[in-house]
Amino acid sequence: MIPLHSDQVMSAATRKIVVLPGDGIGPEIIAEGRRVLDAVVDSHGLDLTVEEHVFGGAAYDAHGSPLPEMTLDACRAADALLLGAIGGPQYDKAPRELRPERGLLGLRSELGLFANLRPAMLYPELSAASSLKPDLVAGLDIMILRELTGGIYFGGPRGIEVRNGVRTGFNTMVYDENEIQRIAVRGFELCRARHPDGGARLCSVDKANVLEVSELWREVVTAVATDYPDVELSHMYVDNAAMQLVRAPKQFDVIVTGNLFGDLLSDAAAMLTGSIGMLPSASLDKAGKGLYEPVHGSAPDIAGQGIANPLATILSVAMMLRYTLGETGAADAIEAAVSQVISAGVRTADITTPGESSVSTHDMGQAVLDALNS
Ligand code: NAD
Repeated sequence: MIPLHSDQVMSAATRKIVVLPGDGIGPEIIAEGRRVLDAVVDSHGLDLTVEEHVFGGAAYDAHGSPLPEMTLDACRAADALLLGAIGGPQYDKAPRELRPERGLLGLRSELGLFANLRPAMLYPELSAASSLKPDLVAGLDIMILRELTGGIYFGGPRGIEVRNGVRTGFNTMVYDENEIQRIAVRGFELCRARHPDGGARLCSVDKANVLEVSELWREVVTAVATDYPDVELSHMYVDNAAMQLVRAPKQFDVIVTGNLFGDLLSDAAAMLTGSIGMLPSASLDKAGKGLYEPVHGSAPDIAGQGIANPLATILSVAMMLRYTLGETGAADAIEAAVSQVISAGVRTADITTPGESSVSTHDMGQAVLDALNS
């Protein structure tokens, strides 16, 4: 695998990683992610500094804000960020603008993290965990690229007002051609990175039969495609894409889509794998700086019990090494170690089948470390 843009790979100077453990199971899974990162720093001779900062509910408790200025400054100065998870029921009554989720939205927009990469992959040994038939999903390896800072979630005008005596809610789905172009370029580059020897396929998902914003989306993505003759481009309406994802998900390679459609499709794709504790994600800015985090939340129901699955976090470390730091060898080594551990039948409780025994968060981390050293 190669990084998204060769000119975006950080130089050989010391790179700075900021780690944000967050809330709930966040600190438990991050501890294992850090152990694995430390191991590849040693084994691959990487020049990285790692700093931990308080974020989310933990930061609200300590400093009265989910994203304190000190944390934000450190994140701005970092090359890459590794986040555990944030949130919890204890913050439901906090003022809306001080809730942990606001900290995360604030961080994404402050850092201009517009490209959200969500791989959905399923190790053949775990295919029984999917709600689909094993042969439809075994070995699934698709990537959904969602535009994260535009579209209907951010567009104006928006609001609720009384029109002709009737309360009316409204939002605006808006994309300009520059926003579409930059996410399309990311999609094509991602395809190339996944298939350096050719055979890459990009499916752009829209609703161009109904929405003008999608008409422009399709036009711009098609124009960008002329720079990537090695990538096969197709277009699909979002309703069909939702059907195809649950009918025959392995037909896809990379899907690129807007914020709303990507939100829905990436959650559906995550569920295809049946194991939310296994899925990493990345949110990248224009220069390739990224926030890496597991797809799941802070799992307050199991926090503190030492039973959370740390593999999504460990695989997020691998994505960080691959996509921001350009350390392909270290990323490959971690992914191979995780495959080895899964093949060997090591399971945390969330990925066991009836009758199988499970290991703790720490033991799963240790199993990956042992595989790395073997
Ligand atoms: P969740 O992902 O935290 O949990 C859903 C279910 O999956 C729970 O049963 C949980 O125990 C299980 N689960 C999640 N991660 C696991 C892991 N690594 N190992 C084993 N089991 C795991 O979703 P939720 O319960 O809807 O949300 C809980 C909190 O997390 C909320 O406050 C929510 O706002 C927050 N949240 C944060 C993020 C984030 O930090 N990016 C994302 C989603 C939700």
